[in-house]
Amino acid sequence: MTDRLWAPWRMEYILGQKPSECFFCEHVTCGQQAHRERLVLLVKKHAHACLNRYPFAAAHIMVAPNRHVSDLSLLDAEEYGDLMNLLRLSAERLRKATRCEGINIGFNLGKAAGAGVEEHLHGHLVPRWSGDHNFMPVIGEVRVMPDYLDETWSRLQPFFVDVQGAAF
Ligand SMILES: [Zn+2]
Repeated sequence: MTDRLWAPWRMEYILGQKPSECFFCEHVTCGQQAHRERLVLLVKKHAHACLNRYPFAAAHIMVAPNRHVSDLSLLDAEEYGDLMNLLRLSAERLRKATRCEGINIGFNLGKAAGAGVEEHLHGHLVPRWSGDHNFMPVIGEVRVMPDYLDETWSRLQPFFVDVQGAAF
């Protein structure tokens, strides 16, 4: 799904030092005051949503279970339900927030399938527009990405605040 999208800042991730801590786990424990900095959109009882710091496209969201597991089969029914509900909800809110025309949704299980962080299961939501190869402003310099991500977070986060049962 990502072959045709141009995302040079992914080199920073690919070449950069990988953090030793699991950032998905940290999203759950960091507290609301750190959500903006960590690009967390919503933390529910068993699952959470965040922006991808190394996006394939504008407003690339990820959803993950709160528990550090690597596969869908390791989730109990409640966790799985929470994750899938959050996936559906995130798609709906993403559509409202960005007025995208389509969304690619996928889970990459295992390195062979392209998982960047294979130890902590996560799903991707990538908004799409007709002829969107050039939708994302052409940002050739990796250093401007933090500003861009902060702006994207500010735009999307209000769409997640009215979600019932949200723990902020
Ligand atoms: Zn984890």
